[in-house]
Amino acid sequence: MNRQALDDLKQQIPLMGYLQAHDWQPARPLSRGRWMGLCPLHEDRQPSFLVDPNQDLFYCYGCGRGGDVIRFAELYHQVKFPQAVEWLRQWRGAEPLLHEVARFYRVQFHRHSKAVAYLYQRGIRSPALIEHMQIGYAPGGCLRGWLTQLGHSLPILRQAGLVTDVGYDAYVRRIVFPLEGNLYGRSLSAAAPPHRFLPGAKGGLYSWKQAQSYPEVILVEGLFDYAVLWQAGFYNVTCSLGTHLNARQFRQLCDGPRTVYLAFDADRNGSGQQAAQDLSRRLRERGLTARLVSLPEGHDPNSFFVQGGDARQFQSLLEAALP
Ligand SMILES: [Zn+2]
Repeated sequence: MNRQALDDLKQQIPLMGYLQAHDWQPARPLSRGRWMGLCPLHEDRQPSFLVDPNQDLFYCYGCGRGGDVIRFAELYHQVKFPQAVEWLRQWRGAEPLLHEVARFYRVQFHRHSKAVAYLYQRGIRSPALIEHMQIGYAPGGCLRGWLTQLGHSLPILRQAGLVTDVGYDAYVRRIVFPLEGNLYGRSLSAAAPPHRFLPGAKGGLYSWKQAQSYPEVILVEGLFDYAVLWQAGFYNVTCSLGTHLNARQFRQLCDGPRTVYLAFDADRNGSGQQAAQDLSRRLRERGLTARLVSLPEGHDPNSFFVQGGDARQFQSLLEAALP
């Protein structure tokens, strides 16, 4: 990549926007439009990370590191320069494409009664929730045609994982939830693997910006768990998309003092509960309060509500949750 292409890349990804997309928050304004905040590169207790949005540069007075958006990506993702550039190029290209795809799937959702019926069966009824989660439906067999018509090339669609190697839509008969930099697809058909993601990271905690401000948050494994809780009025809910939190999700959960209620599946083999206990210990080590929510055996929050549980009963489970 030549000098000009690198400059273009940097110009298209303003440092401040990139930082904020990775949950960095400006804490204190300085002169000339500059900001201080906590350093995302080291354990920072007092804001020592300076950002100059006009020059697209950062510097940390704590760990002494600084530079442009590429340098930040190198340090933050712990990769070398060429990978950081590649990472940023993909980030620049993937976001608008995924937005377009999510919008297309939202339109499809309202055209397919099967999709609406499936959500109903999983306890999702509220139009406000469907809007909030931007739920869509991938019927299969129509995304590729639509995107190529819009001028997206087949190799790009393959690379994004939206189209298979042989040229078919990757998501077929799936309820689709847009994530940060990815799309989760839940199959309606029992014959297909139930959960699918596009290649790449699953992103941070789901809807973290909304949950973050609460002193108590509920963490669940799956988006259908998230959905029923949100619908029941628990807006302090977030989801890790599986019992294993990636480094970013763990960092988010620890970004302030709070109580975390872990409402993982009470599966009969105990794997959800084991994962919840491990996580609870790690959270306590970081000074947070963690509580294990005990659901009736064989249940997850989704099935709890689908089988008649209500907000008051779930609230009692929260109150009874033990460290
Ligand atoms: Zn630092």
